[in-house]
Amino acid sequence: MIADTLRYWKVEGSHDLPLDLEAGYVPESNGGQYPGVYLFSQQARMIRPVKYLPLDKEDFVGPFEQPHMSIAVNTEEIISGESTHVEFDPTNILSIVANMTPFSDFNQSPRNMYQCQMSKQAMGTPGTAMRYRTDNKSYRLQTGQTPIVKAPLYDEYGLDNFPNGMNAVVAVISYTGYDMDDAMILNKSSYERGFAYGTVYKTEQYGWREKGRGEKTGQMLFGFAEQESIAQVLSDYESGTPVAPNPVYKPDTEASQTEWEEYATKKEEYDKAKQAYDSEVRKLEKSTKDRLNSLGRVQFRWFKQLDLDGLPIVGQRVEDGDPVAAYYDVSKKEAKVFTYHGSEVAFIEEVRLLAHENPDQPCQEISIKFRIPRSPQIGDKFASRHGQKGVCSQKWPAADMPFTESGMQPDIIINPHAFPSRMTIGMLVESLAGKAGALHGVTQDCTPFKFDEENTAADYFGHQLIKAGYNYHGNEPMYSGITGEELQADIYIGLVYYQRLRHMVNDKFQVRTTGKISELTHQPIKVRIPDPWHSGYFSLGALLILLMQYRIIQGRKKGGGIRVGEMERDSMLAHGAAFLLQDRLLNCSDYTQAWICRTCGTFMSITPTIMKPGLKPQVRCRRCATKATGFESEGETWEDGHGNVFVGGESTTVVAIPYVLKYVPSMSMEAVFG
Ligand SMILES: [Zn+2]
Repeated sequence: MIADTLRYWKVEGSHDLPLDLEAGYVPESNGGQYPGVYLFSQQARMIRPVKYLPLDKEDFVGPFEQPHMSIAVNTEEIISGESTHVEFDPTNILSIVANMTPFSDFNQSPRNMYQCQMSKQAMGTPGTAMRYRTDNKSYRLQTGQTPIVKAPLYDEYGLDNFPNGMNAVVAVISYTGYDMDDAMILNKSSYERGFAYGTVYKTEQYGWREKGRGEKTGQMLFGFAEQESIAQVLSDYESGTPVAPNPVYKPDTEASQTEWEEYATKKEEYDKAKQAYDSEVRKLEKSTKDRLNSLGRVQFRWFKQLDLDGLPIVGQRVEDGDPVAAYYDVSKKEAKVFTYHGSEVAFIEEVRLLAHENPDQPCQEISIKFRIPRSPQIGDKFASRHGQKGVCSQKWPAADMPFTESGMQPDIIINPHAFPSRMTIGMLVESLAGKAGALHGVTQDCTPFKFDEENTAADYFGHQLIKAGYNYHGNEPMYSGITGEELQADIYIGLVYYQRLRHMVNDKFQVRTTGKISELTHQPIKVRIPDPWHSGYFSLGALLILLMQYRIIQGRKKGGGIRVGEMERDSMLAHGAAFLLQDRLLNCSDYTQAWICRTCGTFMSITPTIMKPGLKPQVRCRRCATKATGFESEGETWEDGHGNVFVGGESTTVVAIPYVLKYVPSMSMEAVFG
């Protein structure tokens, strides 16, 4: 009663009550919130507008009171005597992200939730001030477009400033086998024209952070100590470089005798000149290197990447191990460099000198932004706006892609089986709307709750298609790009806005031949858990056709492998691939050879014998041997390292075992005998 009156007054604007007052009435309940009337009036609370029915005026509700109120979605759903409010628009129940899903009311609800997750992983335009940003890592889509199918809210939020996808011509067809499951085929020509082209920016800091107070700074300085002398040496090199002799070319096959003779003499001259030139260049390089070396161990090769100030040239291409900044060690009087580490080729985007906290001190830290080009690759992840993700399995030549009667070819081919179980009808409608929009040159409104049973979306866009001379249902006859024959069924083809997600094979693929192993067990080492943003499983689709799901145990960067654990072992046994097990778990892992006793079957009692003149050293089993009585003949006995003489225990042989197996018995022996 009090709450109702308060609300009436505040919407009415009487009794000096502010409209943004939150009056939450919590009724008595069993095990619910503590009952009472709670008022909130402080600043910076979240509030949103809804229509207050008794006064037919705008009211603002907050997150505390909302769960205890009855707000109808639209006027039809107002329950008299219960509903106090009604939404101004049914889409107000959706968030910004959820509102960007076209025709979301046509989709099965979990798919809309997946899309809300995925749109956050889409490569796009992360900001308007990219130039000034120094994020550790940021992704950028170079060829973003405005969607043909978009809600008016999209423009209201100004999202065209931050495009995060491309309008793709999508054919729903099972074409080559490369679109099985969630794999999708990319048109190679689309790719070559820049479809989904992306970039990764990485920023790295180089320098010497102060370790604590009182620590001396200025021991290290960026740049070179004797910049002018270095400049002199380099300019000497430049000016001293001799002119290369002009090469001599062989005359034609029809050339006359004299021409050939002429060529021979010229060639001889050239060879001499070339030799002289080469030796001169070598001499020059040698002297340049020596001179630079004498200037505090400066190396000539650094100047391929670095400028005279010791910093890299903007736009310079760098590979793993290339120098990115030179510095001078004052105490050692030596020049050194920081190097770039990364498996991919990068380009220097920007170099920043970071000022020292104390303005009297020299620069002790620099920040370099690298640009890594990432064109779409086989294994990269894409998704439409309906929770339909897929992995690129092939960049298919345009000539072999299927085409329509008008010659259109799809940018993307996806498999029809992606639809029945997922029920993303919204994507089919988007395809239809996108196609009609492209044909008429208009953007389409995809706000949810705009269509109903009487006035269907399929009919609305179908008529637009008919007007443009296309099939009402959005399907078209198509021809095989390989044989040129007409395909037996008409193919559903239209325009769908596609996002490129930031999960890329280049960040994830694992290759390991031999690598670090544990000292104790000789098994491949495991170091670290995978990337922090690793977002659950995603299928690499047709790219990696795996017999089973591998579990990633170790960080890629440290050169770790993929573990074949118990579950993987079991699944391989179940697949009848027992030999693969031997290959993975023995040959490619910690294969060792060891001596074993054939009689008692242990590695533990194996002893090498003392070498006797004329005899090879042998391996015997101490456990199956008996102490010599002294009456045996010379050949029968053997000696261990401690002067003990034995007889027997000859039945030994070499077997292949995993190295850990040597370790396991010794552990259990320890457990038994202490
Ligand atoms: Zn034995």
